[in-house]
Amino acid sequence: MKNKIGVHALVWVGGWSETESERAIAATAACGYDLIEVPLLDPGAVDPEVTARQLESHGIEATTSLGLSFDTDISSTDPDAVARGEALLNDALSVARDMGSKYLGGVLFSALNKYPAPATAEGRRNSIEVLARLAEKAKASGITLGLEAVNRYESNLINTGAQAADFIKETGSDNIKVHLDSYHMNIEEGDLAASIKACGDMLGYFHVGESHRGYLGTGTVDFRTIFRNLADIGFTGTITFESFSSAVVDPNLSTALAVWRNLWSDGEDLARHAKSFMDSELYAATQRV
Ligand code: MN
Repeated sequence: MKNKIGVHALVWVGGWSETESERAIAATAACGYDLIEVPLLDPGAVDPEVTARQLESHGIEATTSLGLSFDTDISSTDPDAVARGEALLNDALSVARDMGSKYLGGVLFSALNKYPAPATAEGRRNSIEVLARLAEKAKASGITLGLEAVNRYESNLINTGAQAADFIKETGSDNIKVHLDSYHMNIEEGDLAASIKACGDMLGYFHVGESHRGYLGTGTVDFRTIFRNLADIGFTGTITFESFSSAVVDPNLSTALAVWRNLWSDGEDLARHAKSFMDSELYAATQRV
């Protein structure tokens, strides 16, 4: 398998100042990763030219991700919130393009938050329309969008890979892909293998996270089944390690993800172990007899 292997920036830093991005990018390269995933919840806080220069000097790439808020929820029935969300997504797309990223994923379709009620048909339609327009703009820059199926406490719209695939088909866009995350799958999918196989060619990006989002192999996620099935569908997309601890805090992201506990303190030890764990599982997945 020739997948690019990445690590989420929150393993290193909680913000993206010039000093923080330099530290995160240098550490990612030093641990042997191909890329770093940069959060764009607040696109204005990221200087894409500075990031592009730092990426080049350390010889790695970047992907980007975000989750919307209730104030910028494109699955809302409030036209003002939908408009604010579309503006934010367009800003994030520009920042992604200017730092050289070819991928913008995450909870692009709704707020990254616990909803008090189910999604509405009108809100779902709003989200589909905005994302179809965003995908057109993304295509002009060679950027793929990814819709991340997340657990029920982080969205009411897309909780499974099958829901993501159905939603994407309705956009009619060919540069929107399914983004799966083993942490969320462990909560919402009935069958890890069947979920990956059902996504097939529509799967574009994969987050590797433990059941508690800490050290890989110390929780309950069945990674053997996951990596075998990624190999079986011939998945060539990016695989990114995602982990969160109260030791590294992004004021926007950490509360939305309910990161209350200290799962680790040493990001470098965590990232080195994760790289070795993923390399080993990927290799084993292709050596079966
Ligand atoms: Mn994820």
